This record gives sequence, C-alpha cells and structure tokens, in this order.
Amino acid sequence: MKTVILTSCNNSVEAKLIQGNLANEGIDSIISNENYTSLYPNMNGAMGSGIQILVNEADAERALKVINANDRSVHCTSCNSADVTQQPKKNMLKVVGIMIISLFSSSAFGNVKQKYHCNNCGADFEI
Ligand SMILES: [Zn+2]
Repeated sequence: MKTVILTSCNNSVEAKLIQGNLANEGIDSIISNENYTSLYPNMNGAMGSGIQILVNEADAERALKVINANDRSVHCTSCNSADVTQQPKKNMLKVVGIMIISLFSSSAFGNVKQKYHCNNCGADFEI
C-alpha cells in the first residue's frame, strides 16, 4: 500500500476530526507527526510541518472530496465572506525575536497570530 499525504493540520483535534470524517466514508488513514506538533504547536508555520494525514494512494481522490465537503476555510469576522487573503507579518523581526526567546526558554509562543484581509468589505482581522 503506497500512502500519500492528504493534508496537514495545526492540532490533533482537527486531525482526529478529519480522520473521523474519512472513517465514516470507509477510508483508512494514518496520522503522522502528531507528537512533535503537539509538543511544539506554534512551530508548524515556521517548520512547514504540522500533523500529516496519510491515506492510501487509491483513496486519495475520494478523501479529498470528503475534506472539501467539510469547509474549514477562514471567513471574515465582519461580513462572513470566504474571500479573504492572509497578510504578511508586519513586524517579522518581532516574530523571529519571539521565536528565538521561546526556543531558549523551551516554551510555546502563542501570541503569534495570523492576520487576514477581507476582499469583500475590506476589514482586517486576526485569528
Ligand atoms: Zn468582510
């Protein structure tokens, strides 16, 4: 059985929900990289990893349809539009500084939030 990476998640709850949705459709899946991501949850964006969900290559197309049927996209907090774009960090030096400090202190840096811009109403919001 050849496996392919279906998607990656930021936390194990999200990964388990997707795995449950896949199981409901009779698709077997494997969760990988869960321990590292749970130990350093805020390193996902920096390291480009996250919790990976692997499926059999033969089930991949059907599994993608299951994931897309469950909408997990970001919506605007003002008008609920799905037409949002992620904005780059304004102060990258501050973000890198927080990362370095938390690496040396062995603690998570939970105050780095993603910024989004709504293309419909023009609102800026953080998640
Ligand atoms: Zn909006």
